[in-house]
Amino acid sequence: MKVSIDVDRCQGHGRCYEVAPDVFTDDDRGRGEVIMADVPAEFEAQVLLAVSACPEKAITIS
Ligand code: SF4
Repeated sequence: MKVSIDVDRCQGHGRCYEVAPDVFTDDDRGRGEVIMADVPAEFEAQVLLAVSACPEKAITIS
């Protein structure tokens, strides 16, 4: 799985790095930042949680 954040959609709610702290972190403005763009299988459940938790639909997986 690959994951990315659309920086134009992200509003910094912080849910992604709360539910998936191994995959996302916050930048200096509180917006989500991907720290694990190529996601190993053991972290995929975290990413799916983050996708459903993001109110801006800013997280894309492929
Ligand atoms: S949950 Fe969505 S809107 Fe909030 S910081 Fe993460 S990517 Fe951005």
